[in-house]
Amino acid sequence: MPGKVVVVRRQEKLGLLERLYVPMIAKGLAVTARHFFRNLRGFVTGRNRTDFVVQYPEERVDFADAFRGMPVLVQLENGQPKCVACGLCEFACPTDCISIVPGELEGAGIERFPEAFDIDMSRCMFCGLCEEACPEEAIVMSREVEIAGYTRESMCFDKERLLVPETLLERRLAFLRSEYDRDDAAAEGAA
Ligand code: SF4
Ligand code: SF4
Repeated sequence: MPGKVVVVRRQEKLGLLERLYVPMIAKGLAVTARHFFRNLRGFVTGRNRTDFVVQYPEERVDFADAFRGMPVLVQLENGQPKCVACGLCEFACPTDCISIVPGELEGAGIERFPEAFDIDMSRCMFCGLCEEACPEEAIVMSREVEIAGYTRESMCFDKERLLVPETLLERRLAFLRSEYDRDDAAAEGAA
């Protein structure tokens, strides 16, 4: 529903009071004070809160399903990454911040795995192209955004730091499947 349209009166010639500015400043301060005391009352009593900010870090917003935090690697129940080291995410990354060293496995059901998988978070721009490129749903955008570090080296996340159990990423995985119709595509492929 469209919001209320407020018509702003812009007159070229200001009256005496407007040229003095003092009444306008007082009016602005009165509006600010009204919001301040209304929100203070809401914060103290917990009722009728109308402030637009949360009391971070005690309070946190629930991000939307489409929210993109830092990319993480999906960890299977056996503790191994779901990644098969195909390199597609590395190729798709526009900032060239993914670095993968593939390894080979014999008799383990999969042939390749990432011996090393690093992401330089100081260069990552949370674009999600790695997630989009991955055919295995092995790298997804998490809800984690608190990743500051004091040095560039500390911002280089290795495989162990990137792994997150699949059970903790179910909400994002469900969103991806609905977004890209992946279940339908898989069913069509199997038919
Ligand atoms: S989110 Fe974008 S910039 Fe970050 S690793 Fe993935 S593709 Fe690269
Ligand atoms: S695209 Fe997916 S499976 Fe391929 S290397 Fe990247 S995370 Fe691993």
